Amino acid sequence: MAWKVSCYLTKPKLAVIMVGDNPASLAYIKGKQKDCEECGIDFKLSHFPENVSQEEIEKEIEGLNFIPSVRGILIQLPLPEHLDKNRLINLIDPSKDVDCFCELNLGRLFIDHPMYEPCTPRGILDLCNFYRIGFKGKNCVIIGRSDIVGKPLAAMLINEGATVTVCHSQTKDLKHYTTYADVVICAVGIPQFLTNDMVKEGAIVIDVGINRDEEGKLCGDADFENLKNKVSAITPVPGGVGLMTRAALMKNMAKAINIKHW
Ligand code: NAD
Repeated sequence: MAWKVSCYLTKPKLAVIMVGDNPASLAYIKGKQKDCEECGIDFKLSHFPENVSQEEIEKEIEGLNFIPSVRGILIQLPLPEHLDKNRLINLIDPSKDVDCFCELNLGRLFIDHPMYEPCTPRGILDLCNFYRIGFKGKNCVIIGRSDIVGKPLAAMLINEGATVTVCHSQTKDLKHYTTYADVVICAVGIPQFLTNDMVKEGAIVIDVGINRDEEGKLCGDADFENLKNKVSAITPVPGGVGLMTRAALMKNMAKAINIKHW
């Protein structure tokens, strides 16, 4: 009984595992730490050197799984090639998998019975909800088929009633698909990838890309300046999907905190 009380009294914590010193990853982690501070959540960073062994990270995850105050655990990606990313992600207790990357949580998402939702797709849907952009009956084209954006977003948009096409690097005649889309979501990682001629008049463009342009400035995948005069709505980079992704992580933390472990 006594330990139950201590669970209530201990501040909930987000644990982040990072390997190496990738500057982009460090910047993302700093953002997560700031968001936790603002939301009254403790933050714990487990930072390992680039050459850390698989066993060491596995031991860390198993330890974090058993700490009651640690309500969320995430592994900052990318990881060095020698580590088995999928094995590590699936070692996280699914009730603490606030990134929604593990097989169980992704499976639940696909049958429209999610425990958590992946942060970037959830952020995109929240942004669209705010602007009263619905997906029922819309033709949505997603460019990019990653496990963290394209694939789960496709499932979520299908669950919202959209007709979804997922395009990727092997897609022939990409423009054929994008020009008939009511909504184009671009998650490729190439600056100026989505151009004016690729979308129809009045379409909605969601730019997921986070890149650096030739001057080192943050930019998305879309040619924002030209597209903004043709489309009915377009998300900026920075200040668009990235911020919504951060907010969605905090929403998942709130869910995690409310899951009872006893
Ligand atoms: P990724 O980087 O793993 O893969 C890129 C995808 O683009 C692949 O599916 C590939 O098939 C596709 N692609 C590459 N070249 C293409 C081409 N010529 N035509 C069509 N498709 C092509 O994907 P990711 O992890 O989803 O990241 C994509 C971008 O989104 C990156 O810039 C990343 O930094 C950014 N991102 C942003 C957020 C956010 O919160 N805003 C979150 C995750 C990723």
